[in-house]
Amino acid sequence: MLISTLSSLFFSCPKLLRHLRLKGKYTYQDSMSRSQMCEVVLENYSQNASGVLQTLRRSLIEPWVHPTTAAEALTTNTTSPSSTSTTSSPKSTPSTTTSTSSSTTSNANPNSTTISAPLLISGFNFGTGSSREQAATSLLAAGVPLVVAGSFGDIFKRNAINNGLICLECPSLVDYLTSTYSTQLEGGRRSAGAGNGVMICDSAKAHNANADNNMSSSGLKLDLEVDMAEGVMMLSEGKKETGVVFGIFFFLQLGRYAFDLGKNLDITVDDVTSWTHNVNAAHFCPQVTALYPQSSVNAETWTEFGELLETEKFKTLAIEKLSGLIQIPSESYDNMPPPGQDPRWETMGQVHDYLAVAFPLIHSTFSLAKVNTYGLLYEWTGSDASLKPYLLAAHQDVVPVNPDTLDTWIYPPYSGFYDAETGLIWGRGTSDDKASLTGIMLTLETLIGKGWTPKRTVVLAFGFDEESSGIHGAKTLGKALEEIYGRDGLAFIVDEGGGFKDVYGTIFATPGVAEKGHADIKVEVTSPGGHSSIPPAHTTIGYLASIISELEQNPFPVELARGTVPHDTLLCYAAHGHDISPRLKHAIFKSTHCDAALHRVEDLYVSKDHWYSSLVGTTQAVDMIYGGVKANALPESAYAIVNHRINTVSSVNETAAHDTQTIASLARSFNLTLKAFGEDIIPASAYSSSESKGHIELSQAFNHELEPAPRTPTSGKGSEPWDFLSGTIKATYAAHRNLGGVDGSNIIVSPGMSTGNTDTKYYWNLTRHIFRYNHKNGAYGGEIATGVHTVNENIPLDHYLEMIRFFSTLILNADEAKSFE
Ligand SMILES: [Zn+2]
Repeated sequence: MLISTLSSLFFSCPKLLRHLRLKGKYTYQDSMSRSQMCEVVLENYSQNASGVLQTLRRSLIEPWVHPTTAAEALTTNTTSPSSTSTTSSPKSTPSTTTSTSSSTTSNANPNSTTISAPLLISGFNFGTGSSREQAATSLLAAGVPLVVAGSFGDIFKRNAINNGLICLECPSLVDYLTSTYSTQLEGGRRSAGAGNGVMICDSAKAHNANADNNMSSSGLKLDLEVDMAEGVMMLSEGKKETGVVFGIFFFLQLGRYAFDLGKNLDITVDDVTSWTHNVNAAHFCPQVTALYPQSSVNAETWTEFGELLETEKFKTLAIEKLSGLIQIPSESYDNMPPPGQDPRWETMGQVHDYLAVAFPLIHSTFSLAKVNTYGLLYEWTGSDASLKPYLLAAHQDVVPVNPDTLDTWIYPPYSGFYDAETGLIWGRGTSDDKASLTGIMLTLETLIGKGWTPKRTVVLAFGFDEESSGIHGAKTLGKALEEIYGRDGLAFIVDEGGGFKDVYGTIFATPGVAEKGHADIKVEVTSPGGHSSIPPAHTTIGYLASIISELEQNPFPVELARGTVPHDTLLCYAAHGHDISPRLKHAIFKSTHCDAALHRVEDLYVSKDHWYSSLVGTTQAVDMIYGGVKANALPESAYAIVNHRINTVSSVNETAAHDTQTIASLARSFNLTLKAFGEDIIPASAYSSSESKGHIELSQAFNHELEPAPRTPTSGKGSEPWDFLSGTIKATYAAHRNLGGVDGSNIIVSPGMSTGNTDTKYYWNLTRHIFRYNHKNGAYGGEIATGVHTVNENIPLDHYLEMIRFFSTLILNADEAKSFE
């Protein structure tokens, strides 16, 4: 059971409050039944209150019914229970505000702990003067399980506890609603003790908030969710102009009150505190159910494929295919000339020859184009040309093995050795990225072998220099793909990227849906040379040292921003992480609307996690330095190259401007002129010729700067491919562990990001839906899977098999998906 939420917050203004001072005329009628109470509840506030409540209830899919009332309804029309004296509603002090709300959590899962019901929101001292129990029970009878108020009268509160009506004190919510929607006094404040105690609402703002759960004609829709476990309420205000705005309000956790309540309702404190636990999750990090192939052919193929994965024969085959590819040292190096001008590329030719032999069915079935000699572009043409094709990407190249480290490899890097005892496959490229490449190929080869054919065209693109920026491989592949399929011609792309892992006791998959930008900025200092026996105070190297020091003392601010992927990931952690601390969780939820909370999350989490802070902010690292040629000659020039990874809400220009600004004041203090990116910042005219000591020039070092990637949609309209991928991940995860079921709650899928770039930086024009995801345990071996880009790279066989299961599920699901076009 879960107390939750209301929507279409009903504002009574001002009718409901007009009769605050009237005494309930039923106060001394002891014979009223629950259904009679239901009819007259709040009647002294408004003749219409009962009707409003019932309208709200009718708008709910399964409105909550108080157990006693439900039992009474079963024995219809029997005479009323005894001992019922009644006041029809709680009475309040003149300053009380009352409003009524209804709930619409449409969670029809019978195991769910969610309930939906109208809630009552009031002002301060709610219930004062109502000594009778019926002030509480009449609300329960009317289907109201929970009242939120600024404060409660003590006797009323005790009666509420005794009868299982939940009372929550949340003055901040009351204040907020009052100041936002009341117009009696300037500034929208409710007057304390004013006149007859009526709160006057701005009816244009509020009166149309209606019970049918649609936005009213005024464009306003209010929902409130109550998380009993965390002592937090979330108010969402849907407005036509601004969309949905969230507000978080805290109340004291139930504590003793929950205990008393539990005693009276014959439920445990745990039950009470678990109420509404999943409600926030739905808002902050919505999840889809697991997605399995549906058509009989696809479903059967998928089941058979799954069974095949378990067989020793298939395992041996899978090991053999990957091991063979590992044995080709297809290394790519920085700054290589194009293919044809450097013999080191020729190992890619060996990759091609190997693939042709290892996957003969693919090579007799698919079309294959070689782009810029070594880029591989396969197409398996589907039978239905109206369906948008999709792309599976991987790269053929690997990071070079440093010869000095050879003796630290447990098995030689190009052995492709499988150790049956540990279940590990060893070698450079096992993890990055040849298991993906082989996994895609083996999945497709197996599907062809089964006689399966696609409706939707499958495209494969395998670059050959991902590890050295992709300018020969993915860049030319991207152009070729755009020529063939057109701009936005693909349904989605899956390339290497984030995996899944345990965070806060919950398994999260984090497909990359954004990428940081990139800029290498060259800082060059020049000044007259000369003999070093009569040196100036600073040489160019000395100036450069000061500049580097200045840059390092002025790093880019690490500021978490709403709507960014790192913030969305944290929202998912907060919504679904089992063991996340309540403090952090509250701060994260609250950060959706409160800047102070956003900074608290920076303090509590971002700044404590170096990887995360690198993800959030623009980074800088001075990676190269050059200066001087001779010990006795003053260096005429010296330069450094500063590598930047640009945060997703910044830009190349902003990054360049930050560096320029940081260096400018230093330049002035040294009497150096400054030119930045073609613009004179401190011109020669700033100094007399005798004052001027030299010149600083800032420029883009290699002209390969990159803006942050466009973000893949993960919610709202256009997020169908994301939902499709999420469902596929959930199905794969569950199937691989025999967990069964379709609810997909074993693994949570969250928008994710990584600190680096992939080949997809050249694929932006092909689709808005780019997913950087490897379906494997990213926690294996720490933050970076063991051995990636270093010694002893390996992959557990089981991880590799799960990747194959992922691709088979993805391919069969993609063939059925209807919502990509
Ligand atoms: Zn890679």
